[in-house]
Amino acid sequence: MTTASLYSLFERYYVPVYRPRRIVLDHGRGARLWDREGREYVDFGAGIAVNALGHAHPALIEALTTQAGKLWHTSNVFVSEPPLRLAEALVEASGFAERVFLCNSGAEANEAAIKLARRWAAAQGREPSRRTILSFEGSFHGRTLAAITATAQPKYQEGFEPLPPGFRYAPFNVIDAATAAMAGGDVSAVLVEPVQGEGGVTPATPEFLRALRDLCDRHGALLVFDEIQCGMGRTGKLFAWQDYGVKPDVVTLAKALGSGFPIGAMLAGPAAAQTLQFGAHGTTFGGNPLAAAVALAALRELSSDALLANVARQAEAIRASLAAIDAELGLFAEVRGRGLMIGAQLRPEWAGRAADILDACVEQGLLLLQAGPDVLRFVPALNIADADVAEGLARLERALRAFVAG
Ligand SMILES: *Cc1c(COP(=O)(O)O)cnc(C)c1O
Repeated sequence: MTTASLYSLFERYYVPVYRPRRIVLDHGRGARLWDREGREYVDFGAGIAVNALGHAHPALIEALTTQAGKLWHTSNVFVSEPPLRLAEALVEASGFAERVFLCNSGAEANEAAIKLARRWAAAQGREPSRRTILSFEGSFHGRTLAAITATAQPKYQEGFEPLPPGFRYAPFNVIDAATAAMAGGDVSAVLVEPVQGEGGVTPATPEFLRALRDLCDRHGALLVFDEIQCGMGRTGKLFAWQDYGVKPDVVTLAKALGSGFPIGAMLAGPAAAQTLQFGAHGTTFGGNPLAAAVALAALRELSSDALLANVARQAEAIRASLAAIDAELGLFAEVRGRGLMIGAQLRPEWAGRAADILDACVEQGLLLLQAGPDVLRFVPALNIADADVAEGLARLERALRAFVAG
């Protein structure tokens, strides 16, 4: 079958909610990928910040294949060793959590956090009208109905009404607005990405997160960090909260947690660890031994000082190169982010062209992401090597030159 006829199966059979580039990927190793025609790509997207250890990492293959020969699934009616060990490791690494709920994806982790926040308020005798969840403009929290409602971006919500009630939005990084949104005392939880991902790679200011912590303490609300994209080492610390030094009550994880194998988690600290009791929530697949074995192996790698040091070092290399490219080509209004979560905002004259630039990158053998129509997003594997960064940046420069010339 030719690549074109294989790709046509996508057009024929998929619910057309995606628009992938017209290549068909075949295999990967580290930060390189190959399509089925043998063309090689440098991977700066890592499956949307998922493949944090690159492709075909030996420790993950070992964990997966060993567990695959033993036990795949038990349901949560029974337990097995890998999820028990993973829960222990996550609590110990988290620096704040006491308990863990394992699930299969980011949206499910946030769904668990939203349900926990409501139960937490209910247990205090607060009426449903006083169990509001506050989230922020530009956020992204996933695609379930509750998660798109928490996602304060109309494009994810339009046409899916009626949305569940009990959500409120405020502008991101505006302390006065958050203060006003919580003044009525009816907010039971604040849900925030320490670094917004899909919304444009925008870090929260440390003052903003500190103010949210104070507001939550003052008004009796839970502070929930959505670290699904920015956690697991991406900022240069294992948890983004550690990078900011602001302690949350709940953290949600997914993406890099399984480093390519689907798994999500909700971690709950002292204020919230006892909220969900027997029968209150559940999942068939969540915490299955196969996913947990891979995540446990990934967590060991992602916790290493050498890996976290690599994040800072490669982030600097990418930023230096983007600055040099910009000095010549004048493309970027701003380069922002934390660690290996970097966004390059296009100047107004190039607004809306991120997708075209991604096409030009594919032409040069580079897989890159956007975060909205105006931002290039760099979220490579956290263990990416110097040579892969250098080669990826060289291809990026060629792609941007071609784009500007064309
Ligand atoms: C990707 C993402 C989600 C949703 O995760 P899924 O696994 O796609 O459900 C939620 N929050 C943030 C910050 C994300 O980046």
